[in-house]
Amino acid sequence: MAQLRFMALDLVNKRPKKDVDSEGSTKISDYFEKDVFSIKEMRTNLAPSIYKKVSKAIEKGEKIDPETADSVAAAARAWAMSKGATHYTHWFQPLTGSTAEKHDSFFDPMSKLEKFKGSALVQQEPDASSFPNGGIRSTFEARGYTAWDPSSPMFIYGATLCIPTIFVSYTGEALDYKAPLMKAVDAVDKAATKVCQLFDRKVTRVKPSLGCEQEYFVVDKALYASRPDLVMGGRTIFGHNPARGQQLDDHYFGSIPTRVYNFMKDFEKEALKLGVPVSTRHNEVAPSQFEVAPVFEDMNVAADHNILLMDLMSRVARLHELEVLFHEKPFSGLNGNGKHNNWSLITNTGVNLFQPSSSARDNLIFLVFFVNTLKAVFEHEGLMRASIASAGNDHRLGANEAPPAIVSAFIGQQLSAVLDELEQNGSVKVDKGDNMYMKLGIDKIPEIILDNTDRNRTSPFAFTGNKFEFRAVGSNQNVANPMTVLNLIVADQLETFHSEVEAEEGKGTEKRLAIVNILRKYIKESKAIRFEGDGYSDEWVEEAGKRGLSNVKDTPRAIDAYLTEKSKKLFAENAVMNEVELEARNEIMWENYIMKIQIESRMMGDLAMNHILPTAISYQNKLIVNANGLKGLNIDHDSITTTIKEISKHIENIKNGVRDMIEERKRINKIEDSRDRAIAYCDDVKAKYFEDIRYAVDKLELLVDDEDWPLVKYRELLFLR
Ligand code: ADP
Ligand code: MG
Repeated sequence: MAQLRFMALDLVNKRPKKDVDSEGSTKISDYFEKDVFSIKEMRTNLAPSIYKKVSKAIEKGEKIDPETADSVAAAARAWAMSKGATHYTHWFQPLTGSTAEKHDSFFDPMSKLEKFKGSALVQQEPDASSFPNGGIRSTFEARGYTAWDPSSPMFIYGATLCIPTIFVSYTGEALDYKAPLMKAVDAVDKAATKVCQLFDRKVTRVKPSLGCEQEYFVVDKALYASRPDLVMGGRTIFGHNPARGQQLDDHYFGSIPTRVYNFMKDFEKEALKLGVPVSTRHNEVAPSQFEVAPVFEDMNVAADHNILLMDLMSRVARLHELEVLFHEKPFSGLNGNGKHNNWSLITNTGVNLFQPSSSARDNLIFLVFFVNTLKAVFEHEGLMRASIASAGNDHRLGANEAPPAIVSAFIGQQLSAVLDELEQNGSVKVDKGDNMYMKLGIDKIPEIILDNTDRNRTSPFAFTGNKFEFRAVGSNQNVANPMTVLNLIVADQLETFHSEVEAEEGKGTEKRLAIVNILRKYIKESKAIRFEGDGYSDEWVEEAGKRGLSNVKDTPRAIDAYLTEKSKKLFAENAVMNEVELEARNEIMWENYIMKIQIESRMMGDLAMNHILPTAISYQNKLIVNANGLKGLNIDHDSITTTIKEISKHIENIKNGVRDMIEERKRINKIEDSRDRAIAYCDDVKAKYFEDIRYAVDKLELLVDDEDWPLVKYRELLFLR
């Protein structure tokens, strides 16, 4: 039974202890974007007139005409072939959660030449019948197509030119993550630009930006392969906590184990070649847990880069005999994996709208965006929660040792004081000739708002100086989902704000005063979303309940927030998604959830019955022989008998648990409605059986002889050197 475990451990011990190699260029500028058909490459490789058209189209987010596309395609092919590429592919993000590609050769056997037409660059029809579509395609159209997104540069991966694309049905419904995100980016651009123009006519475009802090675990490949639960579901469904977990906090910011360091250097280099601007690396809280973060970029590109990076990390890890775990909770009892989404809005004039400044006027702009964001999050907290829902993230949000599933915003002491003062100055009258900024107390927002002591690690949505950080995002998620929601709700809120300002101005109110009064109203209305205390505490859960904030702990119910009348209206009015698309997506998420729990449940049954029980029984038999022997010799054997009884009890519990769980699955699988089925899987399979079965197995791990135990243990998985 335990053979596989010891073979794997043996392999790990024999891994060559390579030192960090220092060959190759260490100057990043030598290879940064080497494999990217960047703006710079376009300028070099395109005729000036074509380049001008393309860069304008990219800058303004406009369509590219067929002739221009032909020229771009020809140049991209020549460039790609000069770098050894033989194929091209439309690279897209279907709702399966990973990326998809179908490679086509540049070589045309008819003409015996390499070819790549503009039409093939712009649009392609993948054989997509097996991608999830939540019933859209069967109801409306049989086919979908991918369409080029010129704002995200093409890159070479392996020997293939990858073209970032969106994936939509012929009737226009989005079948991917990227299309809605791009629409939400447009919506926030439009709304934020309008609001900026209340102050500054030179602002003609506002772009959301994103920097993702990606957490992950690294384990040895052989150990990983020996644990079917990791291979199939990305997390350990059994395993007792090691004697030395993360209590000591010694891993955090400690030195990085050599094997992992080599891996990091390697994937970072590959990432940089692909234009992913990775810049920081460090150990995380748990043993064998790490983080990588790139410098922030335009929303759309950053989102693409995040999944590209995850894919790349998995591939490079295997070359180092390692495996990366992006699951939100690979190990119980240890810190989970999150992905902080750092977000801000930046104008074409180079101003970060979330950067407080020393000028009073600019601070009013800052306050407008700051307060509107808080108001948006308050109005749509349920939707924010829904946007980060997944079976994996359910283990982080609202579960043990994790932040609750409540969305709240942390803004720090100083800004809280600013908002409080603004709110309380409600009756201040501002007359002509007054310094209104001073009178309203908004002339003195300190420029550097947060120092490191004013950080709150427990807040799901925190203001950190010049950006907001959506921290409750799951590490394994495509960030397009939460970022679509965040950009959309802020867009919608800014539109409302703009109309309200116009209406007030129409009544003859001075513009700045109108703005301040509306902000005051928002500050009052959205107060419930602000929370500065310990987000992990029980008091907060209670307090949040009193404030009317939602606390939905599981995915099947959390995603209901997408389908409320309020949400449907929000998505439709801002042209991000229609009702059909929203419903289809929920359908896919419920089905996906069911699949995940089903797999884990089967895996649990299989491991428990076929690996754990036989091991426990055979060990128990040894003890019985021993007890009988002792008895024959008239030696006290009470403690052995006690252990035998204990083992029996756990065996019994496992057997009954697995049997009942299987019966439940059979019943649930007959439920027609996918939401009901997902909820049943959540309540009647996962909640009812997983912990009990695990408890018994983990107890057996402590009782059974280490030599016999079939699964690689936590201490073996986690202390990689
Ligand atoms: P931490 O949150 O740990 O202090 P940093 O301040 O270094 O980390 O930033 C984390 C991430 O936030 C990085 O990816 C960084 O590029 C990104 N970031 C910084 N400024 C902005 C901004 N204005 N908009 C979006 N992301 C930003
Ligand atoms: Mg952070």
